[in-house]
Amino acid sequence: MEPAGKGIHHITVLGGDGQRTTDFYVKTLGLRMIMKTVNQDDPSVYHLFYINGTGQPGSSMTFFPWPMAVQGKPGSGQATAVSFAVPAGSAPYWAERLAAEGLDFDGPFERFGTQVISFRDPDLLTLELVFDETVDAVAAWREGSVPAEHGIRGFWGTTLEITETADTADLLETVFGFEKAGSDGPLTLLKTGEAVGGAVILNKSEPNRGANGRGVVHHVAFRAKDEKEQLWMRKEVANRGLSPTPVIDRHFFKSVYFQSPGGVLFEIATDGPGYESAQDEKDLGVKLWLPPSLESRREMIEKRLPDITI
Ligand code: ZN
Repeated sequence: MEPAGKGIHHITVLGGDGQRTTDFYVKTLGLRMIMKTVNQDDPSVYHLFYINGTGQPGSSMTFFPWPMAVQGKPGSGQATAVSFAVPAGSAPYWAERLAAEGLDFDGPFERFGTQVISFRDPDLLTLELVFDETVDAVAAWREGSVPAEHGIRGFWGTTLEITETADTADLLETVFGFEKAGSDGPLTLLKTGEAVGGAVILNKSEPNRGANGRGVVHHVAFRAKDEKEQLWMRKEVANRGLSPTPVIDRHFFKSVYFQSPGGVLFEIATDGPGYESAQDEKDLGVKLWLPPSLESRREMIEKRLPDITI
């Protein structure tokens, strides 16, 4: 079986204050909050999802906000940058917007033939805007705080800082459908051809111990088009001795987790059934969604969580 090769499904981050994260990703960056739920493995913590206009796989940035968490530190074995794709002509708009928000940023600078602006989120996670003409046709969220013509279309990709890149590159190529698209010093670019979520940069680095905590990527999820492809990917991962978990039903998608050869936690997530399958349109991102197994404890769970408003 050949992988369908669609690329990144979602990226999940350990956050700090959930309201501050929501203000930043919704008000400053113009994403849509599509889902307010809890960490299904620890319902005392929120799980918040921010997406583009269509909610398609490849656009979900998700957070476990943990206000008391210590500050994390980027290092090897981590996804150290998250990149969003924006239209090619939008660099002047974003430079002005970020400056008006009082954010320090680097760029625009050129990397692999595209313009990039780099900055940090409130928990110091490195974010990038990649100005890429291939995403112009993808929908941004039209009701957001950023004019749709300049809006974020989803992920461009992510950068994995790892000490040995060969095994991770092989995994991305043979299981997840990426192909080598360029290299520049320590950086190797792999792409799937998908406009949104179709890029991973491997940054070969010296061992550099990071620390888990606020502002650190928890895992990167890659797309399986359906459950059949997910099982095939899981088997390929197991054949490499990478010990994937069983398939776990996350209700919006099914998930398998494993530690990638470079140390970054990877997930294989199915495209469907999607967020709209869980809630009515009017409740998306507004009403706390709970998996059926936690519904009977709703009152207690809601009481323990701080309010988060858009
Ligand atoms: Zn995930």
